[in-house]
Amino acid sequence: MNWSYPVLSWDKAVELLSRNYKASVTSWWRTAAHNAKLPGSSPKSAHLRGEAIDVVYDGAPPPIENLENLGFLVRRENDHDHLELRQLSMP
Ligand SMILES: [Zn+2]
Repeated sequence: MNWSYPVLSWDKAVELLSRNYKASVTSWWRTAAHNAKLPGSSPKSAHLRGEAIDVVYDGAPPPIENLENLGFLVRRENDHDHLELRQLSMP
């Protein structure tokens, strides 16, 4: 993990993710009602707070380390990556 600063904002990290890795965002904010209908979703999902995105790629998924270096916490699912922006405390 590269902890270099400055830390990217959420919107900038998503932009770089999309441009560099040909990623498309398929889910972001969810209402509780919509979230509850999704198989396997957590009632405390970060999507309910807009703090997670799901993405798919045009080609093969990039190495997880590359995504971590953009500041994302990565959970690789069967058909998408679930990404949350790390909450960093100031040094
Ligand atoms: Zn997700």
